Amino acid sequence: MPSHDSTLEEIKDRIDIVDLISDYVQLKKAGQNWKGLCPFHAEKTPSFTVSPAKQIFHCFGCGSGGDIFTFLVRSENLSFPEALKILAKRAGVTLKTSQKEAAETGEKEPLFNMNKDAAWFFQQNLSKNSQAAGYLKGRGISDEVQKQFVLGYALNSWNALLNFLARKGYKPDMVKKAGLAVQGSKGVYDTFRDRIMFPIYDLKGDVIAFGGRAIDNTEPKYLNSPETPVFNKRRVLYGLNLAKDSVKDAGQVLLMEGYLDVITAHTFGFTNAVAPLGTACTQEHGKLIKRFAEEAIIVFDSDEAGNKAAKNAAGILLESGLHVKVLSIPGKDDPDSFLRKKGKEAFQALLARPLSIIEFFMLQKGDKRIIAREAIETISRTPDKILQGTYMKMLSEKLNVEERYVREEYQRIKKQHRAGHNSSVLP
Ligand SMILES: [Zn+2]
Repeated sequence: MPSHDSTLEEIKDRIDIVDLISDYVQLKKAGQNWKGLCPFHAEKTPSFTVSPAKQIFHCFGCGSGGDIFTFLVRSENLSFPEALKILAKRAGVTLKTSQKEAAETGEKEPLFNMNKDAAWFFQQNLSKNSQAAGYLKGRGISDEVQKQFVLGYALNSWNALLNFLARKGYKPDMVKKAGLAVQGSKGVYDTFRDRIMFPIYDLKGDVIAFGGRAIDNTEPKYLNSPETPVFNKRRVLYGLNLAKDSVKDAGQVLLMEGYLDVITAHTFGFTNAVAPLGTACTQEHGKLIKRFAEEAIIVFDSDEAGNKAAKNAAGILLESGLHVKVLSIPGKDDPDSFLRKKGKEAFQALLARPLSIIEFFMLQKGDKRIIAREAIETISRTPDKILQGTYMKMLSEKLNVEERYVREEYQRIKKQHRAGHNSSVLP
């Protein structure tokens, strides 16, 4: 927003960064610049530099740097809007309401920064823990893919992350706000302990949350960040930040169930794979996919729970206007185990002949009449009338009944929906 930017510039013009930082750090003149002990990391010789010419600060020790806003956000642990209000007051600049609103978007910045630091910390820990590193190696996840997904390890400790983040200047309250720490009766402690860590990225490349997988039999097997100001799991697909170009190129997304499915798929070259995060597929997921592709292929586990989730996802994705197909994985495998056991070519062969929605439904075990109604209920959700017609024709062929019966059933289900009933479970 230009008016917002010009206000920021005005505030920057009116506040000298050396003045501001001198309130916090003892600065000494060193040539063109000023130097002092860094407030963001522990040091004995000054590597923290302030440039009055450029109106920025930079620390050669820890790499922190920025302008007056960055400095205040970091040193007072503020959100961007809070820092903006304080500095506007100090500069004697009045903020308009719209500018205050625009500033709200900056509230997320400190959380992104802290999550990024946490991801770095987890990544460093991975090589130090042979069990964690061995686990990933044992699953055939190469160093390259580990780096690509920024995989890490949360130490088996109650406060390793809290201590690390404290040294970087983040207060426990903020760590809690990001879901990385929990308030217990005896104090604040790390949420993730002794787990393989999967940072979750948004499409801009910011770390918005984490998933943690237990290495042993600890329950829960998977632990995700809670909802935070930057994380809404209904709107995020794991791996889409890396997959989006492939999804666009292929015109197709592979929707899987878990992180490891996605990572293994990418390892084997199926770089258009993504997964929802510990949640069923949502309409927001459907809309998100629709931005990049027209077709979604559901690749879920072949067990009963997987089939149920696939049926549910199919309806939601159809509703988003996507073309939906289902990959049926033979036996009891999930995409991850299938790929590792059978390899790339076998998976490619499956991908070459995915099931249509109708074929998928008619393969389900149970009363064919109930399944047929479920199928009709599902295909009624696509806004594409031609596609709907094609599906109804296919279904009548599969059921070996005249198409008009399928259409009548479709009308009946629609009427019931309008009346607020759900017919899909009725015989
Ligand atoms: Zn520093």
